[in-house]
Amino acid sequence: MKRAIYPGSFDPPTFGHLDIIERSARMVDELNVAVLKNSAKNPLFSAEERVSMIKELTSHLPNVTVSSFDGLTADYASQTGATIVVRGLRAVTDFEYELQIAQTNHAVNEQIDTIFLMTNLKYSYLSSTIVKEVASYGGDISKFVPDTVRDSVYEKYQIMR
Ligand code: ADP
Repeated sequence: MKRAIYPGSFDPPTFGHLDIIERSARMVDELNVAVLKNSAKNPLFSAEERVSMIKELTSHLPNVTVSSFDGLTADYASQTGATIVVRGLRAVTDFEYELQIAQTNHAVNEQIDTIFLMTNLKYSYLSSTIVKEVASYGGDISKFVPDTVRDSVYEKYQIMR
């Protein structure tokens, strides 16, 4: 049984995240999307809100579950019986940081390996930060996130469309 976790902030989930979820779910038996609570980062959405958005967006994928966690990814992975960590890579700039995290996770628990999926070219520029930035100025984020997420983001910024 190949069990993987895809950890991240997902604040909010974008088409880039969904692409990684769909592709990695085809490679493993079970994929757990693990939302990092990271209250220190002062997220736009609470962990519960992020979990519920991702649950709705992945309801068509039978081997995907969604939960939230705090603490070390490697610890959470072992608690859930996952040995694979999935991460997405956009540009070279992601690489150095991701390499460091992957090696740390492996050092904390050597059972754990990280697999990287290259971003879909269509979404290579896309990040949750960009989505929030554009929305905060009233810009159109329909190309970046599903409609339900778009509405929730606008609601947070109280932009009526
Ligand atoms: P974190 O705060 O952990 O970086 P994010 O929610 O920003 O969390 O991203 C989670 C994971 O998804 C990371 O591995 C990131 O590289 C990947 N990711 C984010 N946006 C994209 C995208 N547009 N294409 C591919 N992977 C992405």
